[in-house]
Amino acid sequence: MSGTLRASGAPVTVVGGSATGLYTATLLAEGGRAVRVLEGSEKYAPEARTLIVTRRMKDLPGGPGDQSIVNVINRFELMTDGRAATIELDEPDLVIERSTLLHGLAERATAAGVDVQMGSRVQTLRANGTGGVTLTVGDNGATREVLANTVVGADGTFSRVAKAAGWPALHTVPLVQAIVRLPDDLPADTTRVWFHPEDTPYFYWLIPESTERGALGLIGEDGHAARRCLERFLERHQLEPIEFQAARIPCYRHWVPPQRRLGDTDIYLVGDAAAQVKVTTVGGIVTGFRGALGVAESILHGRTTALRQLKHELDWHRLVRRSLERFRQSDYELLLDVLNPGTHGVLGTLTRDEAGRILTRLCLAQPRLILLALRTLVLPPDRPSTV
Ligand SMILES: Cc1cc2nc3c(=O)[nH]c(=O)nc-3n(C[C@H](O)[C@H](O)[C@H](O)COP(=O)(O)OP(=O)(O)OC[C@H]3O[C@@H](n4cnc5c(N)ncnc54)[C@H](O)[C@@H]3O)c2cc1C
Repeated sequence: MSGTLRASGAPVTVVGGSATGLYTATLLAEGGRAVRVLEGSEKYAPEARTLIVTRRMKDLPGGPGDQSIVNVINRFELMTDGRAATIELDEPDLVIERSTLLHGLAERATAAGVDVQMGSRVQTLRANGTGGVTLTVGDNGATREVLANTVVGADGTFSRVAKAAGWPALHTVPLVQAIVRLPDDLPADTTRVWFHPEDTPYFYWLIPESTERGALGLIGEDGHAARRCLERFLERHQLEPIEFQAARIPCYRHWVPPQRRLGDTDIYLVGDAAAQVKVTTVGGIVTGFRGALGVAESILHGRTTALRQLKHELDWHRLVRRSLERFRQSDYELLLDVLNPGTHGVLGTLTRDEAGRILTRLCLAQPRLILLALRTLVLPPDRPSTV
């Protein structure tokens, strides 16, 4: 990564004005760079959505999501075919509301001097032979050209910037969720997780956003099949959907180096555009913010520490996912059976955004977990099911 500091002070052009684009833009502006954001939507009216993040979000410079917290989660209930385990968290997870998050980020970006240009959908970019790139931008039915010499693609899973600069397309998975009335037996500070490997290699979740409502969803492999599974699950649990939400989420398979050159120009990617998503849970807010921080530090100071740390984090999640992809029902039952007080302590103290430390300490607390992981990673799927 070159991380060139440009003496010209020409604006950094950020494509995409959602969570990671606005956060990158703010960090760059607060670091003294001129920044413009080109956002494709005409009006700033982000969809409301319930998201769960770990408390690590609060450690990020500027507390990007502090105003958007609508609920806190003090425990996780894990369920699989008649078995259950409860993990009490020492410090709560945070439930945030996406549109409030984005409005807060937009306000902070504007206050830092970022020039946010709505209704500016980037169609393509190309090296212009004079040391920069030219972006073709759709604007109210017309097109205009924008010159840039540093570009950050924060334009999501199907990034135009990534495509134009030559990054390969990302593998994606469908996420479907329904907003439901919270069942009577679920306290508002508890997230419930069900492992049903016959429906999904991930899990079902129910995340309360208040005492009244929660988001129930799953990640699937095929969009239609995932929707059918969700409908069956709602019926089985007698939960009435209030609304459905669906999207394709990037699936982290390997580190996507977030910087390339197009001609003489540095092009960066952040957030979903670079698959900066924890592939265990498919949470992309905290990791996307960490990617934004890494890219901003790289542009401002040529530092790559934050990006290296993010790579390690995402690689740990990939390792766990490879193991979980081969879990059968009996493996989940075993997993819940071997969770002892030591492992509960580790899971209650550390967060999903510290995967390397969690795994090391879990294996020390319960060595049978090493055998379970090794068996799923190394042995063929028709292996015997005891450890
Ligand atoms: C239903 C759902 C639930 C989720 N739940 C969670 C959760 O609980 N916890 C969690 O951590 N994560 C969750 N995620 C993932 C998380 O929302 C994403 O990882 C995160 O929002 C990615 O942000 P981003 O800014 O990188 O991309 P996006 O939010 O996709 O933003 C991309 C932006 O770029 C703009 N854009 C796109 N193309 C162009 C273009 N050509 N020109 C200009 N602008 C463009 C778009 O309009 C958009 O504003 C969830 C995702 C979904 C869909």
